Amino acid sequence: MRDRKLEKQLEEKRALLREKGVVLTTPRLIILEYLFENPIHPTAEEIYNSLKRRFPSISQASIYNTLKLFTKLGVVTELMIEKEKARYDINTTPHAHFKCIKCGRIYDVFEVPLPQREEISGHKVLTTQLYFYGICQKCVQS
Ligand SMILES: [Zn+2]
Ligand SMILES: [Zn+2]
Repeated sequence: MRDRKLEKQLEEKRALLREKGVVLTTPRLIILEYLFENPIHPTAEEIYNSLKRRFPSISQASIYNTLKLFTKLGVVTELMIEKEKARYDINTTPHAHFKCIKCGRIYDVFEVPLPQREEISGHKVLTTQLYFYGICQKCVQS
């Protein structure tokens, strides 16, 4: 059972997609739900590995294409916090991220506000990212 708040957020994203003229195919819907249920900033590969068990017909290509589309439409934020692979965040409220170099977890950081600029020195800003790297609270204590 999903909670009401999650259901509401999911409906908002579905509405946003419909508004942009996107057909809500099964892969798109299950990827959207997965991102809400697993707000751990997963990679495309992690999403694929989790979903293929429940939905054997889902392809890696459809995951990549869907994430690309969602990023373009502003439904998800693509994080390049790791140089090897992109991670995806369903929470598109502007926030910074912290990556623990010991356990690899990526945490949301809300106490440091991101500068909100649509334009900077005449350049159009599409995304603003701020990444912190270090050792997380849990790893510091252990
Ligand atoms: Zn850690
Ligand atoms: Zn985040």
